[in-house]
Amino acid sequence: MLEKYLSQVDFTSYEDFYENFKIKVPENFNFAYDVVDEYAKTDPDKVAIIWCDKSGAETTFTFGQLKEYSDKTANFFQSLGIKRGDPVMLILKRRYEFWFCILALHKLGAVTIPATHLLTSKDIVYRANAADIKMIVCVNEPEVIKHIEDSESKTPTVKYKALINGAKDGWLDFSSGIQEASSQFERPRGDLGSHNSDISLLYFTSGTTGMPKMVQHDYEYPLGHILTASYWQNVSEGGLHLTVADTGWAKAVWGKIYGQWLAGCAVFVYDFDKFVPKELLEVISKYNVTSFCAPPTIYRFFIKEDLSKFDLSSLKYCTVAGEPLNPEVYSQFYKATGIKLMEAFGQTELTVTLSTFPWMEPKPGSMGKPSPGYDIDLIDENGNSCQDGEEGQIVVRTSKRKPAGMFGGYYRDEALTKSVWHDGVYYTGDMAWRDEDGYYWFVGRADDVIKSSGYRIGPFEVESALLEHPAVLECAITAVPDLIRGQIVKATVILAKNYNPSDELVKELQDHVKKVTAPYKYPRIIEFVSELPKTISGKIRRVEIRQTDDNK
Ligand code: ATP
Ligand code: MG
Repeated sequence: MLEKYLSQVDFTSYEDFYENFKIKVPENFNFAYDVVDEYAKTDPDKVAIIWCDKSGAETTFTFGQLKEYSDKTANFFQSLGIKRGDPVMLILKRRYEFWFCILALHKLGAVTIPATHLLTSKDIVYRANAADIKMIVCVNEPEVIKHIEDSESKTPTVKYKALINGAKDGWLDFSSGIQEASSQFERPRGDLGSHNSDISLLYFTSGTTGMPKMVQHDYEYPLGHILTASYWQNVSEGGLHLTVADTGWAKAVWGKIYGQWLAGCAVFVYDFDKFVPKELLEVISKYNVTSFCAPPTIYRFFIKEDLSKFDLSSLKYCTVAGEPLNPEVYSQFYKATGIKLMEAFGQTELTVTLSTFPWMEPKPGSMGKPSPGYDIDLIDENGNSCQDGEEGQIVVRTSKRKPAGMFGGYYRDEALTKSVWHDGVYYTGDMAWRDEDGYYWFVGRADDVIKSSGYRIGPFEVESALLEHPAVLECAITAVPDLIRGQIVKATVILAKNYNPSDELVKELQDHVKKVTAPYKYPRIIEFVSELPKTISGKIRRVEIRQTDDNK
């Protein structure tokens, strides 16, 4: 399948890849017809999804079956009046109905809005009105149902609500709806179908720095993830790939559908509510997962397990992104498994942007090098390009070309879009520096970087230094305003088991940081806590710690 969309598939080096990787975007590309239905025609028994849940239920979907279910779902939606351009919100966690729905909505040329089940009614009201949502399909869980029902009087555009697995007053029954629907859905001809520039997906960002932003992607977007899946996650024909992500976040389409299927690789879905490291390791072993992708926190928990107890011999390749990966985690995971974690950097707004590609030797703690198609630069405060070794903001230059898969802007918010993307430059809001080999190193989010006595201090480096100390389980570095120094460095720390807060420990941690990194970076304040403020997706919200400190 890849040959159809790439001018060259195999490369001999990163340089060859960066130079010659090119995506061929056909007119009116539609992932559901051109990829899923194409497999259904040529190889209907090819496995697309292996799904299981905590209770031990398991099921497999072939491409032939996915065509049938997505056709049925498209007919069901169409019977309700859902058509090209209509926004439908999916709150489906990791249930397999998510795949029926997203494919069906693609077939209709509609707009899919995946969302997390942790939304409150206030969040739902905000989203429904921001995007004129017409229908919501959700899991049959009391909390989710309650939040949607509570939002009802304030969400006038929502015409239909459907529950998977079950019936309830005021709700459509999705399962019987699709059962009764015809299993043949005709692809609309030519101009009646989706166009490449139509909106296919609206994603909310994680909300690490403020209110989540609504990122809009088009119908070409799945092709952008060839890069993500085939060349970062290194998935291949016949493999079984697992990305840990709830379907409410963009990370799910980075790892559970587009690029993997374009590469002919099946996706593995483990439907769980609470992450238990041991259980995840057990299913990886039981189902012979071949490649695995997760944010750093998952690996942080893995290395606390005795990994020698699990047969992970099927696992050949592991990737990591979403937050900075502390070198300590890299080396412990390598020691335990012999697998080198291949780190990358990206955003909901982009596809994989910087990455440790298969031809490259990973440098622990570095995100890697620019993806082909992405014209990456680092820019200082005056807008000048940085030299190697200088810190600057990561930007994507788009005046010559926009990379396939890059977002089209924040939905209905031109001012916000312009604030980060103007004059042919998109500002990621992330700070990094580049070494003499061209590898990029994360410093922190632009808003999180600390300026103290004329020094600029990236929180990530200090956090990594602290994490090397056995007493530290998790930590966040933030700035506290200071009359003399402008800002001073503060560490908010969760202690590991068997350690208790004390003045001696504060001193010990400060000395430790002074020893392993430049002394001016040491945290003058250390606060011990039992929990750090996090986004729903588990990212540390340093902004919240700063606000609390400002109000003290
Ligand atoms: P919001 O934009 O709403 O504040 P968010 O930026 O966390 O939320 P996402 O799009 O999910 O939302 O995450 C992208 C961000 O994650 C990047 O901008 C960057 O800050 C961080 N990130 C991703 N990969 C890495 C990495 N390898 N190292 C460090 N940070 C990373
Ligand atoms: Mg962001």
